[in-house]
Amino acid sequence: MTTSDLRSLDTAHVWHPFTPMLEQGREETPVIVAGEGFHLIDTDGRRYLDGVSSLWCNVHGHRVPEIDRAIRDQLDQVAHSTLLGLANVPSIRFAAALVKRLPPGLTRVFYSDNGSTAVEAALKIAYQYYRQRASRPENRELFVSFSGAYHGDTVGSVSVGGIDLFHSTYAGLLFRTIKAPSPAAYRLPPGFTRETYDAHCIAELERVFESHRGQIAGFVIEPLVQGAAGILVNPPGWLARVRELTRKHDVLLIADEVATGFGRTGTFLACEQEQVIPDLLCLSKGISGGYLPLAATIATDDVYGAFLDEPAAGKTFYHGHTYTGNPLACAAALASLELFEQSRVLDNVRETSALVARRLRELADHPHVGDIRQKGIMAGIELVRNKADQSPFAPAERVGHRVVLAARARGALLRPLGDVIVLMPAPAMPPPLVDELCTATFAAINDVCK
Ligand SMILES: *Cc1c(COP(=O)(O)O)cnc(C)c1O
Repeated sequence: MTTSDLRSLDTAHVWHPFTPMLEQGREETPVIVAGEGFHLIDTDGRRYLDGVSSLWCNVHGHRVPEIDRAIRDQLDQVAHSTLLGLANVPSIRFAAALVKRLPPGLTRVFYSDNGSTAVEAALKIAYQYYRQRASRPENRELFVSFSGAYHGDTVGSVSVGGIDLFHSTYAGLLFRTIKAPSPAAYRLPPGFTRETYDAHCIAELERVFESHRGQIAGFVIEPLVQGAAGILVNPPGWLARVRELTRKHDVLLIADEVATGFGRTGTFLACEQEQVIPDLLCLSKGISGGYLPLAATIATDDVYGAFLDEPAAGKTFYHGHTYTGNPLACAAALASLELFEQSRVLDNVRETSALVARRLRELADHPHVGDIRQKGIMAGIELVRNKADQSPFAPAERVGHRVVLAARARGALLRPLGDVIVLMPAPAMPPPLVDELCTATFAAINDVCK
């Protein structure tokens, strides 16, 4: 089949996510056939640097011999069997290895297959936990999350989300949640300075806890970085503050590290940077090295304990997905985790983060770069019409999208968040390639924002 045959079939039958499909049909979307290291190759033989880790999940590159081998070996055993009434070898081995790598106390691994389901499971576990806990059973029905939060696309995870463009259409479907203002904002509400806004956010948080005493089942946070909101970086100490308040008010802290986990912020988990241990931890994206769909919701012994009773007590967690603990995905995850240590991925992240920080300074005086944000190897470059008053480009201009097309012509694959250009190299991408990614991206910005 020629590329154009494939493209017409794609247009005829494949509905792409987060994609205006009328436009997709008009554009010459690359059709990927292969990967090699940190590059993807299309049907016309063009090679592209994978600048966003295949949507934030790739860790060690593509066609990594160790992970390929682990999957092939598992394929010679069995591809899938259920965790309902059965166990399987890779899901046991990976859970044990993962727990060893996590902060103390997070010991019970509940598997699912994507970030949204990891969050969805956490919400239901928290809700059920308060009803069943031995110390003081309560019916708590409220969740708190932040403005600009993104926790996935299922109805529960959208309910705790706060991105209007993605979420407002579904308002009528969602359960009620409380949105606390996030201090990680580029445009502050009128009348605030950076300092007074931080103080306001903390005061609001206190107020939310005080005024909903005994009603909040969980507080959901993307630790250190609000990813889909535009790589918004929290002020230092914010996460620790949230942990302190959730402790004080006896509210479960749910850390959604679907994006930040597996080295992206400079540590294995973002939570480690502020010595925070959540009650529930959600992992996906990088968990399998970016190879296969897998997710985990990890609970503390205390949370898990509320579900332990005789069957007739009705405390079972009645939740599960067909492919939970899929052996192929868990085999990939185990190989990826071993490689993470062996090839010292965190050392590489340290080096590439410093490189990105150095390169980003080149954009500091660019008239259309309104803000530059970075944590580890997650970076966002916010493009604006007017730097002085922070006014954005008209959405119809699709500036972010055009920059991505320009970068593609220069051999780098990116994916914008509106007019925020995201750099999300794989944690193991070698420095020379990260350098090349910066060069292609900055050139693409200059192509579009002249
Ligand atoms: C991507 C993401 C999710 C959703 O993961 P999916 O696998 O796309 O369902 C949830 N939370 C965060 C922070 C994410 O970045």
